[in-house]
Amino acid sequence: MNLIDWLDKPYYSLNAYFKNTYGEKIYKIAVNAGLSCPNRDGTLGSRGCIFCSRGGSGDFAVDMSGLDIETLNDKDYDKIMNSTDYVSRQIEAGITKFNKAVGDKFIIYFQAFTNTYGDIEYLRRIWTEALSHKDVVGISIATRPDCIGDEVVYLLRELKEKYCCGDYVNDLSGKDKSFDKFIWIELGLQTIHEKTAEYIRRGYHLSVYDEAVKKLDDIGIPYITHVILGLPYETSKMMLDTVRYVNERKPFGIKLQLLHILEGTDLADEYRKGKFEVLDMESYISLVIECLENISPEVVVHRVTGDGPKKILIAPIWSKDKKKVLNTLHKRMRELGAYQGMKV
Ligand code: SF4
Repeated sequence: MNLIDWLDKPYYSLNAYFKNTYGEKIYKIAVNAGLSCPNRDGTLGSRGCIFCSRGGSGDFAVDMSGLDIETLNDKDYDKIMNSTDYVSRQIEAGITKFNKAVGDKFIIYFQAFTNTYGDIEYLRRIWTEALSHKDVVGISIATRPDCIGDEVVYLLRELKEKYCCGDYVNDLSGKDKSFDKFIWIELGLQTIHEKTAEYIRRGYHLSVYDEAVKKLDDIGIPYITHVILGLPYETSKMMLDTVRYVNERKPFGIKLQLLHILEGTDLADEYRKGKFEVLDMESYISLVIECLENISPEVVVHRVTGDGPKKILIAPIWSKDKKKVLNTLHKRMRELGAYQGMKV
């Protein structure tokens, strides 16, 4: 274990990674690119994954004056899609919200819905908009493994060559600086177990995840895999098996997300009918510790808690106090002498 690199945490957090790489904290601005998802637009299904809220997991995206892509009429939707500064406006709004007091480097997180699922020229434009912004050090693109087609792979490779090769000069900054930017892909896997995948209506098989990982590895695009802990009917062993499986493929990062029951989802209906229970805080902490022990020390842990929108959270209520959850986790790991990778 290297406590210096990990900033005194018993695992390699995203903050520690940024501090090691840039010498300072990098702030995340979540944007909504106005894209849809094959699990919602009728291609694979229309009700989405069973846990997915109306915001398509993008509930923290910058609020664009109440703009709600889902309720726009066709004309307004086309206007947004054809606007050349839709993403830039969100980036500026996000930076203004942070008021620059926190620092001057940002990561743009394409979070809501499936951010590789759209017209390739539109994707080129929005990713380029973000990557060429003077205060942006990189972008992270949340998507589904079944939405990494050839066109997307070529585009990622093209942008990587342009922005991530060390010779990109950010001439908009007015300063003479040249540095790499990064492009990360975030893959929503959630579980390796087909029965659970069917229950949550994920809409693709595990082999699709492996194919996406291979494609990204081949072009050298780092990826972060999302895993949900606490999915209905999964045992601790099943969740641990998922984490081990992901770790064996050597991802750049992993996100451990506590299952949240959100208002307006089909999962909320199941929960209210008493079909399953959510994890209590103690069980969750024990589980996360075990997961961390089974994740290689160089894998960046992007999240260890839930991070859902509090106003529509039904359960587990204890997860609203994120600080308490994190403090308890860190304290417990120190007491146990546990740390990331100790069982790998
Ligand atoms: S793939 Fe993502 S955006 Fe689509 S329904 Fe599932 S959770 Fe929601």
